[in-house]
Amino acid sequence: MKNFFKIKLYLIVIALAGMFGCSMQPSKDSVALSSPDSKNKVEFSLNELGAPYYTVSRNDETLVSKSRMGFIFKGNDHFDCNFSILNVTKSAHNDTWQPVVGEYKEIRNNYNELTVELQEQEGKKRKLNVTFRLYNDGLGFRYEIPKQDNITNIEIASEETEFAIAKETTAWWIPGDYNSYENIYNETEVCKIDSANTPVTLKTLQGTHLSIHEANLTDYSDMTLKVNQKGTLYCNLVPWPDGIKVKGVAPMNTPWRTLQIGEDAGDLIESSLILNLNEPNRIEDTSWIKPMKYTGIWWTVHLGFETFEVGEHHAGTTEKTKRMIDYASKLGIKGLLIEGWNKGWDLRGKSKEIPDFLHGAEDYDLKALVEYAKSKGVELIVHHETFGNIAHYEKYMEPSFKMIHDLGLSSVKGGYAGSIKPAVQQKHGQWMVRHYRKQLEMAAKYGIMLDIHEPIKQTGLRRTYPNLMTVEGVRGMEFAAWSEGNPPSHTLMVPFTRMLAGPVDYNAGIFDIKYESLKKHKFNWRMPKKKYPKNPGPCVKTTLAKQLALHVVLFSPMQMSPDLPENYDGHPAFKFLQDVAVVWDDTKVLNGEVGDYITMARKAKDSDDWFIGSMTNEEARTFEVDLDFLDEGIKYQATVYADAADAHWDKNPTAYSISHQEVNRNSKLTVKLVPGGGQAIRITPLQ
Ligand code: CA
Repeated sequence: MKNFFKIKLYLIVIALAGMFGCSMQPSKDSVALSSPDSKNKVEFSLNELGAPYYTVSRNDETLVSKSRMGFIFKGNDHFDCNFSILNVTKSAHNDTWQPVVGEYKEIRNNYNELTVELQEQEGKKRKLNVTFRLYNDGLGFRYEIPKQDNITNIEIASEETEFAIAKETTAWWIPGDYNSYENIYNETEVCKIDSANTPVTLKTLQGTHLSIHEANLTDYSDMTLKVNQKGTLYCNLVPWPDGIKVKGVAPMNTPWRTLQIGEDAGDLIESSLILNLNEPNRIEDTSWIKPMKYTGIWWTVHLGFETFEVGEHHAGTTEKTKRMIDYASKLGIKGLLIEGWNKGWDLRGKSKEIPDFLHGAEDYDLKALVEYAKSKGVELIVHHETFGNIAHYEKYMEPSFKMIHDLGLSSVKGGYAGSIKPAVQQKHGQWMVRHYRKQLEMAAKYGIMLDIHEPIKQTGLRRTYPNLMTVEGVRGMEFAAWSEGNPPSHTLMVPFTRMLAGPVDYNAGIFDIKYESLKKHKFNWRMPKKKYPKNPGPCVKTTLAKQLALHVVLFSPMQMSPDLPENYDGHPAFKFLQDVAVVWDDTKVLNGEVGDYITMARKAKDSDDWFIGSMTNEEARTFEVDLDFLDEGIKYQATVYADAADAHWDKNPTAYSISHQEVNRNSKLTVKLVPGGGQAIRITPLQ
């Protein structure tokens, strides 16, 4: 259903400019737009110098006060003032679309749009368009530098976009590192942000929740945020080695600068604004895109028991992979991630021409293992660890994807550990944005799903390329293996911050929380090098029940069961990881506060099963959860995986209980969470 209307409004700005010179009346140069529900409002204006500004409000609350827009090109060439309005176009849009894999069966895309066409009044008379899309759950705006005679090559020295948020607003943010998103979150007043990677989550004094991010990051550099002397957030793009931020030719569109708006923290998670601001699916036949659970040798290597490199303790041998295939088959896990399978790991740090993405290591028979896995109903997920050797990897990318396709496999886990080579390039700069896109398009061409670690942040491209299943880009479970770990509050930050960008391959699901496995393994390559933390465990810092709840809360269409298979085999709680879905027909946030707690309910795709995940930070909490989302007239069985009464993330993390009860849509469940605890529930119709 499409519902378009267009109003064209021509302002006689040039005539006014002639009459008043540069001191035009601002009221003649402003234009406003409201969201479909009329609650959110954006106002665009030019000041007396012809500089563009915007403001955002919700009901009577100003969310973004007068904020600058525009660019400075190379050579201090200002493209941020001296404008007049040539033309204003408004339109409305309201339809729905179905994601191939996602959090919802159907997504409504309902917005009002405003495009303001600007032209410099003097000099080169260059043109710049600004488009706003206003939704009930926020807004996006982007610049278009149209094709024109007076602009050929574009070299952006600075994008001048500001987000003037009230200084006292609470902000949750990670540092604006140009090479990593793997950091602990800070909670400060917005004016105290040093520099931040987006999404940045905010709570105003009135309790409105906001998230600043970007959508459709295409051939541009990643937007980080900084705060200027006035205490105003501004766009700080990740630079090229020569200091230029973005290089291109007209016509050029920037990514959408986005502001999600929610009355409470959960509204931000339920919002599909980032996806709505991306282009529709470009992959015609999506039959090969299959969400799945996977396991692997990842945790044993991260704990130090085995190595990715060939040698006595190599985890990725033919024999050990066969054992893992047997385990995956027995545990009912469809995917097996193979890491350290290929040649060149032992030359790490010695050669930039590694690894080899076409040939197995000397003790690894890839072809035979693909066949063996097939016979057991398991599919191998091929690891492409680039070590940041981009030029080398790009030579291998197409032949390797083709080989994987020809082997009948359909997924790759990408890795970009360490700094990028050539070292002058930033991982989040335009050069790497181009690389990640090349990889994504190449994978789509060969029917390959991607799970990218050390990625460029997600900006909703999974709508356009649904083979982009999941990415890391978060301080994930791996930190529990070789650092002090992540505090109990971290997993309560991630859903309200990082997850607003898209799926999170966090790798939760560790059952051996006390690291009993350390006692069973004599060899540990981390130990002699003293790389193991002084206090070697437990660093997981959640209860076991919370590890289960994370599989509901953290959305990832490829979801790992990361622990050693012997820790799952025969463990009663593993049933939950077997049963839980990875893609959904519906998603609801039942309660939540950033960094404190969350309870989510999700309906499994093409199923009547619901799953609930509830989690807390260091504080014990009790909730009453209303099951009114269940269908009328149906009886369900709830299987509850709860913290034991005496469980505690540090002192007693593995104590849990499993219980059953009959429920219906009038039921209320009492959810008790211990410090650092969680609860996971499966609700399935009774026959
Ligand atoms: Ca990582």
